[in-house]
Amino acid sequence: MFRPKAIYFEKDIEDYTLGKELLKKYNEVPKIEIENHNAIEEMRKKENKEFLDMKRNLIIGVRKTHNFVPNHKISDYLVPYTSSGCTAACMYCYLVCNYNKCAYLRLFVNREKMLEKIIKTSETSEKELVFEIGSNSDLVLENTITNNLIWTIENFKNCSKGKLTFPTKFDMVDDLLKLNHKNKIIIRMSVNPDEIINKVEFGTSRLNGRIEAINKLKEAGYQVGILIAPVIFVDNWRNLYSELIKKLSEKLSKNIKKDVFFEIIFMTYSYVHTKINEEAFQNAINLYDKNLMTGRGMGKYCYKNELRQEGEVFFKEQLAKYFPNNRIAYIV
Ligand code: SF4
Repeated sequence: MFRPKAIYFEKDIEDYTLGKELLKKYNEVPKIEIENHNAIEEMRKKENKEFLDMKRNLIIGVRKTHNFVPNHKISDYLVPYTSSGCTAACMYCYLVCNYNKCAYLRLFVNREKMLEKIIKTSETSEKELVFEIGSNSDLVLENTITNNLIWTIENFKNCSKGKLTFPTKFDMVDDLLKLNHKNKIIIRMSVNPDEIINKVEFGTSRLNGRIEAINKLKEAGYQVGILIAPVIFVDNWRNLYSELIKKLSEKLSKNIKKDVFFEIIFMTYSYVHTKINEEAFQNAINLYDKNLMTGRGMGKYCYKNELRQEGEVFFKEQLAKYFPNNRIAYIV
């Protein structure tokens, strides 16, 4: 259970039910009032080596921007939702976008306004829309602090059309199993080989827990997808990912294997990650490999084309072998 070291909060959160609840819940935790959750001067000045310590804080504010970004993978729109950042510390996390600015967990208490906009957009659209609500954080993790996922599913279920989707790396799904979700929620579990989870995805659920959660969610009637992401081309990647896919085929239930779909994403990395990781995780592996990666502007790196193509062929073969009836939504 996450227990924040300190809470940084905007005064306005006291005008919202969730804001009041959180302040009461963390009654004992030291509190610092802030003007704006986007610009906490004290946090900005911290050094990279304080990265993990900084993540022990909780920031609570009111979300001001509500712009939907069109998307063409699993959803139609990426929607800014109830949180941003995370208490876990995956070394490649793309939320580490601007040094330390947005890595720690920020909660936004104006959830009614955010969900209202989704419902209105969904109900006035001619086509059935899917909204990605988890692109800025991990909502299963967030739910253990706010119950926002339970609240969202219960309040979205009567929307006349449309679906919500989010990815997760956590297995704390028991509170979701009894909800009447009316088949409007698509949950996508992100997986990686145990060795990579242990060495790179600090603070997340282990693989067995994630697999068990997939089976439970399917039993509870949710539509479930599997993200193999991000694929990291470590030295023995072929063995590791082949073992992972084999393990999935052995441990996933028949029910889930009927229609689970896959997404495969190759890791991207950046100069910012390198700087934070070498100071914050001094004994961890180095994910940057200059022989395998190439720059793609703005200090960002991705794997070279030849390697990506090799990876694509490999994953298509492995999934055809162990999951012959399941769809790969995309490989990027
Ligand atoms: S669990 Fe997701 S949001 Fe949290 S650090 Fe890992 S990749 Fe980032």
